[in-house]
Amino acid sequence: MAQELISPQEQKQRLKGWVLEECTRQWNGSETGAYVRRYLASPAATVLSTYKALTKPLSSMLTQMRTNKIGLATFLHKIKVTDDPYCDCGTAEQTVSHVLFDCTLFTTIRSEYPELSASSTLKGLLTESKAALAASSFMQRTGLLKQFRYSSFPTV
Ligand SMILES: [Zn+2]
Repeated sequence: MAQELISPQEQKQRLKGWVLEECTRQWNGSETGAYVRRYLASPAATVLSTYKALTKPLSSMLTQMRTNKIGLATFLHKIKVTDDPYCDCGTAEQTVSHVLFDCTLFTTIRSEYPELSASSTLKGLLTESKAALAASSFMQRTGLLKQFRYSSFPTV
């Protein structure tokens, strides 16, 4: 059987295409990760660009907000760490969306973050670099996530 002769550049292109095709196939066929697929329709190198400018604590915060596996009452209740999924404000379950947009306990802090306006969407906030930085900084300032209390976050 004769082998097709192709240039190294062509080999690299074909390999990249195959890898992306395979990653996309696995991404779409996976039974887990449905929450993350809300924000990231398909795997792509551009996803990493959001994280490049972030420090380790910020990157960790963003990942936790995107996956919804985060130390807020709703998730802690889901994994049976707490009995109550509700926020201390008493109006709703304590989710990422509730804390970022609606919780009345953080109205003053929220006013310093125009990215968290009512016209913002959770998807937009967690996928655009500058907005993701603001969301991460805001979440740290709420003090709800104790593991980040000693981390230093840049001022937006
Ligand atoms: Zn609340």
